[in-house]
Amino acid sequence: MPELPDLLHIQAKLEERLRGRKVIGERLTSPVILRCLVRGNLSLLLGRPLDEIRRRSHFLVFRFEGLDLAVNPMLAGRFRLASPEDKDEGSLAFALGFEGAGELRYLDDKSMGKAYLAAAGDWNAIPGLNAGGIDILSPQFTRERFVSLLKHRRDQVRAFLLDKKALDSLGNAYADEVLFAAGIHPKTWCRTLSHEDAVRLHDAIVEVMNHAVAEVARRDEPIEVKVRDFLKVRMKDQCPRCGAKLRRAGVRGMDAYFCPHCQPATRSALVDWTKTGK
Ligand SMILES: [Zn+2]
Repeated sequence: MPELPDLLHIQAKLEERLRGRKVIGERLTSPVILRCLVRGNLSLLLGRPLDEIRRRSHFLVFRFEGLDLAVNPMLAGRFRLASPEDKDEGSLAFALGFEGAGELRYLDDKSMGKAYLAAAGDWNAIPGLNAGGIDILSPQFTRERFVSLLKHRRDQVRAFLLDKKALDSLGNAYADEVLFAAGIHPKTWCRTLSHEDAVRLHDAIVEVMNHAVAEVARRDEPIEVKVRDFLKVRMKDQCPRCGAKLRRAGVRGMDAYFCPHCQPATRSALVDWTKTGK
């Protein structure tokens, strides 16, 4: 699943390549992906230049005069820029040809992603697009705002971090990195975190995500490649700080990676965990 740093990289690369260029072709090979909220289909885009690409929640919104194409890649969706001769189409769902810039292909092994063709700006009609929480890379994501969000939570901290309606957004990989940076056990109950814990967690989100965005941009891999090898604990065996063997724990069905030494369980976390049987 593309996480925020991946999406920002894809957005920047696609804008660089496609902005201002006209759509000259379209192919839809997986109709289940596309929902048209206007009368018509992808051919409505023909002849229109791409004005800009916006990122909101897990969506990339391709904006044309009069029309928006909003794509949510969900678990397995990938974007690819291809030349017309490139026959490697894999699990192609749809493609848009751009004048002088080849084809933008959207591939989806699981056909779980969705693309919505809507009237420009009609974002409320697109399920989930406006439902996201506060953008964690925006200036509005302050310590005060984060602390007040956290105060009302009754769940475990990792589940809170992954809640897209609260925070826009962290996925599995960066939730682990953030908790490791803050030294907080993934199963800690939000209400047991002190003010200092909350501030440390906020700062860890800002630091880890800004670093990741810069690192993914610096590596400048093709947009279908997910750059993750700089992560410290996700899918790793050993803690880079203390050398302990990293552990995995199920938090609401998701695998969390953490260091039992650098992210010790608090007493309350252990008690609550036993009680709920999770
Ligand atoms: Zn450690």
